[in-house]
Amino acid sequence: MSCDFYSLSHDGIRQMAPYQGGKPIEELARELGLSKVVKLASNENPMGVSSNVRKACSDALASLGRYPDGSGFSLKQVLSNKLSVKPEQITLGCGSNDILDLLARVFLQVDNNAVISQHAFIVYKLAIQAANAQIVEIPAVAWGHDLDAMAAAIDKHTKLVFIANPNNPTGTYVNRQKLERFLDQVSANVIVVLDEAYGEYIDHADYPDGLELLEKYPNLVVTRTFSKAYGLAALRVGYSISNSDIAELLNRVRAPFNVNSLAMRAAEAALNDTDFLERSVAINTQGLLQLTEGVNCLGLKAIPSVGNFIAVDFSDNDTTSVYESLLAKGVIVRPLGVYDMSNYLRVSVGLPEENTVFLESLEQVLADG
Ligand SMILES: *Cc1c(COP(=O)(O)O)cnc(C)c1O
Repeated sequence: MSCDFYSLSHDGIRQMAPYQGGKPIEELARELGLSKVVKLASNENPMGVSSNVRKACSDALASLGRYPDGSGFSLKQVLSNKLSVKPEQITLGCGSNDILDLLARVFLQVDNNAVISQHAFIVYKLAIQAANAQIVEIPAVAWGHDLDAMAAAIDKHTKLVFIANPNNPTGTYVNRQKLERFLDQVSANVIVVLDEAYGEYIDHADYPDGLELLEKYPNLVVTRTFSKAYGLAALRVGYSISNSDIAELLNRVRAPFNVNSLAMRAAEAALNDTDFLERSVAINTQGLLQLTEGVNCLGLKAIPSVGNFIAVDFSDNDTTSVYESLLAKGVIVRPLGVYDMSNYLRVSVGLPEENTVFLESLEQVLADG
């Protein structure tokens, strides 16, 4: 008799569905026999890899036979100097995704809950479920986090609050005043996770830098990543900055050698490559404008975004068929059904010519449909 293995897993796991990433370029190329594919589906940096990062990786190849430095000493030193925080406040992760998971594992258990916003980055839900805790999801306002309602939803079972600033996939952000008002309302024994995965792209005077709030709010954890503006998505490296006691707790459950040596060397090189970062941000600012104006010209609306992507409203169309017709033309974007936004497609900012391919393909798809 075969065993029902599902019944052996805990309730949280049974409620989960695996994370679905953007469709890989190779997969679409293989399925449709296409030679040219434009992928605007995973908020990656379209600029490719800088020569400094290439060199750092090739230098690191010689020591691939050794385990990496599990304490991440060197990268933490560089980060510590750059961010003016103590190395003990930094936790390195296999992507910031890893950190989000560590936070859930450290602070959540059955009977606890974590507060998130509707339409927020899906990984928060997965991390909470994997820890077998409850999700408290607060309706969004104008596609963004309703921080007052989130503060009001905190109860005695709440251990974590996740804030995506800006949020993926909506591109909205909370300003400094609202964030501080929120933090003032939250008890010090609730951990607030401020996810700044796209922070480098933003140049608004009222966009808060989480690091400036750490001293006043020791229950705050800021997470950042090298996957987006720094262009290292494939290497999987991110980090958090927090109170050193929180970092010490995360370190207890962190998998040994969770960040590999190529990733750490590349991240150091990327931090020193300010020119690449500046060009990445400039290309993004220009691309956001190109995409927004382009879809507006086609009679479509996008949610105003400060990230490296826009969510476009296809309510007047069959969204799934637009997605599939774009695929047939070799253009990959991201459907948002799991975000409670099934009439939207998320389009990442590409190089100017990739944005043009997307807009021209979309124009044809809408004309044919
Ligand atoms: C992409 C993303 C991340 C992290 O990605 P990693 O590659 O795991 O660092 C975190 N938060 C948000 C909101 C994101 O969009």
